[in-house]
Amino acid sequence: MAEKVVKSDAEWKKQLTPLQYEVTREKGTERAFTGEYWDNHLNGTYLCVCCGHPLFSSEAKFESGTGWPSFWSPIAGENIRTETDLSHGMVRSEVVCGKCDAHLGHIFEDGPKPTGLRYCLNSASLRFVKDGHAGG
Ligand code: FE
Repeated sequence: MAEKVVKSDAEWKKQLTPLQYEVTREKGTERAFTGEYWDNHLNGTYLCVCCGHPLFSSEAKFESGTGWPSFWSPIAGENIRTETDLSHGMVRSEVVCGKCDAHLGHIFEDGPKPTGLRYCLNSASLRFVKDGHAGG
């Protein structure tokens, strides 16, 4: 298990943009087709915008048509955590960063092979690093 990153709301607010804060710390959702990464086709790694934990690879990204960056698998199962989300009158699987509990998005069971899963994420939760570039 990764060592946990724990910060106060004030610290997160200072570090994040208002949208990043709303999505990651208050379980918000960016409007479809407005984020930075739904149409990103570059090869690289998507890190948690809050703590820099590597979460998803472009190798598992696919065109979902939803307007949110979508993946069929995380880089490693232990890098993320899932929780049951009962908000908005639905039963959904919420996906959060395994290290800092940032809200990332939701998991649906209509994804492509090989997993059949669709990790539907918010661009605002992520920071993309192109292959060949240092993570910092
Ligand atoms: Fe994180």
